[in-house]
Amino acid sequence: MKTHVKALVVGGGAVGTGIAYHLAKAGWDTMLVERDELTSGSTWHAAGLLPLFNMSYATTHIHKYSVGFYKALEAETGLNAGFAVVGNLRMAQHAARMDEYMLYSSVAETAGVYHEFLTPKEMKDRWPLLRTDDLVGALYHPQDGYINPADVTQAMAKGARQFGCTFERKIQVDAYRWTGSEWVVNCTRMVEQGGNLVASDDKFEIHAEHVVTATGNHAQRTAKLLGIKIPAIPVEHQYIVTEPDPALVEYRKTNPEHPVLRDADAKWYVREERGGWILGPYEKGAPARFEFGVPDSFRADLFPLDLERIEGEYMSMIHRLPTSETAGLKADFNGPICYTPDGNPLVGPAPGLRNMWLAEGFSFGITAAGGTGYYLAQMMVDGEAEIDMASLDPKRYGSWITTEYAARKNEECYDHVFILHHPDEERPVARPLRTAPVYDRQKALGAQFGQVNGWERPIYYGPKDAPEDFDHDGRSFRRGTWWPYAVEEAKAIRETAGLIDATAFTKHIVRGPGATAFLDWFTCNALPKVGRINLTYALTPQGTTRTEYTIVRNGENDYYLVSAGAWTAYDADYLRKCAEDMAPTFGHIDIHDVTTQWGVFAIAGPNSRKILAELIKDADPATALSNKRFPWLSARKIELGMCPVNAIRVAYTGELGWELHHPIEMQRYLWDQLLAAGAKHGMKLAGARAQNWLRQEKSYRAFGNELGRDATPLEAALDRFVDLSKDFQGKAAMLATGIRSKCCTLLIDGPDDTDPWGKEALLLDGVKVGRLTSGGYSVAFGKQIGMGYVRPDLAEVGTKLKVKMLRQEWDAVVVEDSPFDPTNARIRLDG
Ligand SMILES: Cc1cc2nc3c(=O)[nH]c(=O)nc-3n(C[C@H](O)[C@H](O)[C@H](O)COP(=O)(O)OP(=O)(O)OC[C@H]3O[C@@H](n4cnc5c(N)ncnc54)[C@H](O)[C@@H]3O)c2cc1C
Repeated sequence: MKTHVKALVVGGGAVGTGIAYHLAKAGWDTMLVERDELTSGSTWHAAGLLPLFNMSYATTHIHKYSVGFYKALEAETGLNAGFAVVGNLRMAQHAARMDEYMLYSSVAETAGVYHEFLTPKEMKDRWPLLRTDDLVGALYHPQDGYINPADVTQAMAKGARQFGCTFERKIQVDAYRWTGSEWVVNCTRMVEQGGNLVASDDKFEIHAEHVVTATGNHAQRTAKLLGIKIPAIPVEHQYIVTEPDPALVEYRKTNPEHPVLRDADAKWYVREERGGWILGPYEKGAPARFEFGVPDSFRADLFPLDLERIEGEYMSMIHRLPTSETAGLKADFNGPICYTPDGNPLVGPAPGLRNMWLAEGFSFGITAAGGTGYYLAQMMVDGEAEIDMASLDPKRYGSWITTEYAARKNEECYDHVFILHHPDEERPVARPLRTAPVYDRQKALGAQFGQVNGWERPIYYGPKDAPEDFDHDGRSFRRGTWWPYAVEEAKAIRETAGLIDATAFTKHIVRGPGATAFLDWFTCNALPKVGRINLTYALTPQGTTRTEYTIVRNGENDYYLVSAGAWTAYDADYLRKCAEDMAPTFGHIDIHDVTTQWGVFAIAGPNSRKILAELIKDADPATALSNKRFPWLSARKIELGMCPVNAIRVAYTGELGWELHHPIEMQRYLWDQLLAAGAKHGMKLAGARAQNWLRQEKSYRAFGNELGRDATPLEAALDRFVDLSKDFQGKAAMLATGIRSKCCTLLIDGPDDTDPWGKEALLLDGVKVGRLTSGGYSVAFGKQIGMGYVRPDLAEVGTKLKVKMLRQEWDAVVVEDSPFDPTNARIRLDG
């Protein structure tokens, strides 16, 4: 057995095997170790469905790759993976579900996933056993289907072996140690003893340059071994298999197999199985399991069936397929299915560790295994994947995560598999958890909260005196109940002033002898002078955008970095690792994450100066906030009443405004002062939704939308923030990449009741030429607005395109960057 390899994959389920295949195919000397047998984890009891349907751009690509890859495996390996391409029918019981399918349809178009819409009559004509009289329509994927999970894993394993990968079974990993250049992995040979798998005395080390963990339900043990947090905890998932249904048996004598059926509103999937049916419900009340690790006694075991819990779903299957009532129950499966709080797996570099890659928390691991292997291998071998994998990055969760949080959120996520996936959905479990001191005050004033990285953040302020039946959470694929309130907030910021809570921002202090040289290399814009700020980007070595920073320079070697609130751990990890690597070149660099020490309010609007002038303590208060003493893009330490504030003159809404960074313990005091002063000048409290619309009128890119690891800053059309006269990380790669597609802003003549969400396809003459990455409503223009990426030649101002919404094409025109106040006259307003 080898003891030195380039890559060691731990875990022989579908996911680990898919990764081993792609690493070996890429030419890496790869070994996979499995503590038991291949597929003995969750993989053995999966139902094998391969749903292409997904609202996430990255996950849609992963699933799409898998489906194509699995189809090709037999030719490559000679092993039949048991892929039944029977199609997948998603039924809709009501109009909102059809709205969901219509939004999905546009997402699917951006990824090239083929699908059709069917009417109830078309369904009934094709599949007469289905009851369709209470349906409004369906979405159909003819290329979808199901596969045998064990067979596809074995086929991938054979393919991997053909590329030189070795598989070692009955080897358990018990410890990891990083030497600075490789991982020393302590292993134990496992042996059978009376039906149990037990550790033998045979212990040894494997040395690997890179390690990937794909340990499924054992993620909590893996987390302990690595000294990190992994919020992957399984939840019970059951499916039942019926005896043959005589009507189905009869039907199948002359007809092909039914597609996989999904009655999303009834929360189940159903497929055929030897003349009977498999029913897989996503019911309420499924409990989390193995919160503190899998017991040694649990191997390829199952939990007892809880029929009562799925009674409602069982009855609704009989409603939808009336003949199934005659078929008795033949078999049942209740196994652990891994979840994460947002339902996406955790794929990418482990926080704080070098050359350690996680592939954990898969709830659709059979579907995702091929694509995950493909894209993760790209990240490991080439440095980056061709799609932005940030939405799956393990560091989207921070160290504030606990076992209780993960367990409860994962149960919620399971329960939400078939809910309507509104883009404005905010899930209720484990909230409030991370709150700024003003949370209660905001709530009393009508704030409705969204969660960003666990923080409660006002998304809009609803009516305080709303009638009892007012639905604050009135989410929708069209315009939710929050929409008119966001319009008023946006108007207030343009006409008087608004106050936005931005406490969740990520904040780092970077200082020390090496700070200036390091940041100059780490970011692509020129560093600001002392007292000034700059917008800048840290790039990946491949030249794409890794982080967007507002950098405040407080001293020669003293900087305050502000980045997106959703990405604290993700940003911190990269910053620290790069600083560590470069310290020998640039000198010592101190990095402190001060995110939770500083609150942030953003005040913006033409009256914002007057409001702050009421509070500022200064020898000459009349000029303290003037352009001369406090110019745009500068930072000053000011005092507002008794609160010391590090004020930054920027506004993400494109109005005269300041970010007020203040000691968190003085937040309530400052809030009260601002509200009292603001009341005299028409200030309104505003939430993140209004802000999101306003920033699009200024073409301000958002991280995770326009900015990410699949585009360079030049592709994002941010040339003015890239200083090509200096050298910086990723520069050569950025230049070599050229412009594959280009970011632009579009004004859209859309439907009367729906705004784009930033997921939609952009078309020219019916052909996809790009996609939106942001969308919303422009109060200034009285129409829809969006930002997105298109073929470079189409990013010219005046280009007429179409946006696909509600299955129709709507006129859109590319406008100049910052269509609202293009000269920034409002931001520079003196006074
Ligand atoms: C009832 C049910 C139905 C499902 N149906 C579907 C479906 O239709 N479609 C779909 O896509 N998904 C489905 N799933 C989910 C699917 O089973 C999982 O997402 C998938 O199997 C996860 O694969 P994995 O490789 O990540 O984990 P696993 O298959 O659990 O593999 C992890 C492996 O790691 C090994 N391991 C752990 N720790 C160590 C260690 N320290 N050293 C060595 N080895 C270690 C384990 O022994 C295990 O074999 C279903 C799940 C359930 C419960």
